[in-house]
Amino acid sequence: MQICKTLTQLKDTISSIKSERKIIGFVPTMGALHEGHLSLYRRCKSECDVVVASIFVNPIQFTNAIDLEKYPRTEAQDLAMLESVGCDVVFMPSVEEMYAEKPTLTISFGEIEQVLEGKSRPGHFSGVGVVVAKLFHLVQPDRAYFGQKDLQQFLIIQRMVSQLSFPITLICCEILRDEDGLALSSRNARIPAPLRTQAAYIYKSLQLAAQYIKLNKLSEIKQDILQFYAPNTDLKLEYFEIVDANTLQVVSAALPSSNLAICVAAYLGDIRLIDNFLIATN
Ligand code: AMP
Repeated sequence: MQICKTLTQLKDTISSIKSERKIIGFVPTMGALHEGHLSLYRRCKSECDVVVASIFVNPIQFTNAIDLEKYPRTEAQDLAMLESVGCDVVFMPSVEEMYAEKPTLTISFGEIEQVLEGKSRPGHFSGVGVVVAKLFHLVQPDRAYFGQKDLQQFLIIQRMVSQLSFPITLICCEILRDEDGLALSSRNARIPAPLRTQAAYIYKSLQLAAQYIKLNKLSEIKQDILQFYAPNTDLKLEYFEIVDANTLQVVSAALPSSNLAICVAAYLGDIRLIDNFLIATN
């Protein structure tokens, strides 16, 4: 596994791979890897000739300096995990290397970034868009893999790739979960043991809402979900929305032609957890 820390090293490596006409698969991450991330790498490995990983905690997508500072950094463990899934190239630049020129560019994605995760974090998706665009230019992948876990992130990148004509196929990979349904996340390690059972209610609430949708009882969901969460006194809902799975705009009645996503963000103590569930209605 080759480790590139500078843009020049990466460019040289990519040029030599391209000269051999190999299919490059790319999985960008911010490190602190877990099995959920590895599932993306395994899929990438099975579909591409060369697997490129990036590990970069991107400062311009953080809207809170403390979150950026507290973001877990587990470099040695990450590299061992990447090696174990057969990753070929890892790009892990410093902030100074990545942003030698201070990024002043911003990207506006319109109404899709003003809801859900974007609502409480203005500028977050612009920072994601800028770093992913830059990584795409550097890595020049044929295929790039993202998790459905961050559905809004996947959809804004999909728009960027489509509207700016990046020659890249995007793949949205399913969410890997613990046995009780909790979506794997680097934040789960911080959940205190006595609160762990409450965390499982996030996925249970998504399943409950999915049943309501199937029974066409959309208008009753919100009220019943609030009651469902009530006994879990450490689990506080930030949002729970039924949205169009493509635009992420709230829907109040299921349209026969629209696929739906149930999206949730909740705080367990001071740990913010997100999850979602897709429902095909056509
Ligand atoms: P991160 O570094 O945590 O921002 O995530 C890097 C990529 O891994 C993103 O595309 C995430 O959506 C994806 N990812 C995170 N958690 C999971 C999970 N539990 N299952 C599948 N993919 C995930």
